[in-house]
Amino acid sequence: MNLNRRHAFAAVLGLGISACTPPPKEEAKKEGPPKVKKQPFGTTADGQAVELYTLTNAKGAEAAIMNYGATIVSVKVPDRGGAMADVVLGFDSYDPYPKQTSYFGATIGRYANRIGGAKFKLNGVEYKLAKNDGPNTLHGGLKGFDKRMWTVKELPGDVPALELSYLSKDGEENFPGNLQTTVTYKWNDTNELQMDYKATTDKDTVLNLTNHAYFNLAGHGEGDILSHELMIDADKLTPVDATLIPTGKIEKVDGTPFDFRKPTPIGQRIEDKNQQLKFGKGYDHNFVLNHVAASPTLAARVRDPKSGRVLEVLTTEPGIQFYTGNFLDGTLHGKGGKVYARRSAFTLETQHYPDSPNKPNFPSTTLKANSTFASTTIYRFTL
Ligand code: BGC
Repeated sequence: MNLNRRHAFAAVLGLGISACTPPPKEEAKKEGPPKVKKQPFGTTADGQAVELYTLTNAKGAEAAIMNYGATIVSVKVPDRGGAMADVVLGFDSYDPYPKQTSYFGATIGRYANRIGGAKFKLNGVEYKLAKNDGPNTLHGGLKGFDKRMWTVKELPGDVPALELSYLSKDGEENFPGNLQTTVTYKWNDTNELQMDYKATTDKDTVLNLTNHAYFNLAGHGEGDILSHELMIDADKLTPVDATLIPTGKIEKVDGTPFDFRKPTPIGQRIEDKNQQLKFGKGYDHNFVLNHVAASPTLAARVRDPKSGRVLEVLTTEPGIQFYTGNFLDGTLHGKGGKVYARRSAFTLETQHYPDSPNKPNFPSTTLKANSTFASTTIYRFTL
């Protein structure tokens, strides 16, 4: 608890300040400047204020989040020499965000990834969704959670933290049920960005939530990510058809370019003759994680040999979509005017498997009325 909060708390209780033990001088010094800085970031077409919240930890590393799309805008972390770089793709202001289709840094819902044929059945009722990716629905439809304004609350505590919430109304994008979602971001002093997701509904619905940050551990816009070394803790993946919808099979990665059980450069096999790579124009696949537990478990680890920066992704989710920015084409100019070329970033989207509402053999994505969904993912930046 910081000094001001401690005094405010005492005031609420009607206590004189003298009733509190004054904090030792050292603690007051360590507190330093505010840990959460709020700045205007733009205005939506309908006049709403977009705000950027920069969370700074005791090591001086930063994670910035905006209320539009509950989006991660930047993450600044050190390399092995201590030099800071922003390792996620994004823009310097709100304006370009609604105009692009790459989902930079956004929170994705109500259903992250694809739903085949843009429809699903639940309790015998067929729900028809928007076809925004060929014949399929991608990332929640035409106006998913990434394009919504979230309500932000700063959370008290030892580390900078925000809670963002959004109520998705019954029938929004044709999904059933009023769905109340919160995402909490915590940025601790070991450079871990923890995302806790919670959702409740008043009618049975389907749900798949993820974050869509694109990473380049050399720094955003600093070349491609093909020499980054990747480990994914997955013996299996869910192969897809030509429209990137899972076939329903669960196949072993053994002897394929999808075997990342030992750290392997991302680019080593990306051009191999392989039907799955052809369909994805590179990696764009859901891996079946080996270890799924109630507390976040290591799912993937990426290391940039040049800078020494490492990203570890821990999650409670059963799957992870590894995507190598195959659809980036250099037309988007991001922060500082940096060009975002093909394969200049990767994503590791923790999630349930794509098209689960139409795949009874996949872990269920049905959220029952009046029950609560909870999951946690951590992006841990280390060396
Ligand atoms: C999908 C890609 C898509 C990208 C951006 C990823 O989650 O798997 O196919 O191009 O999001 O839309």
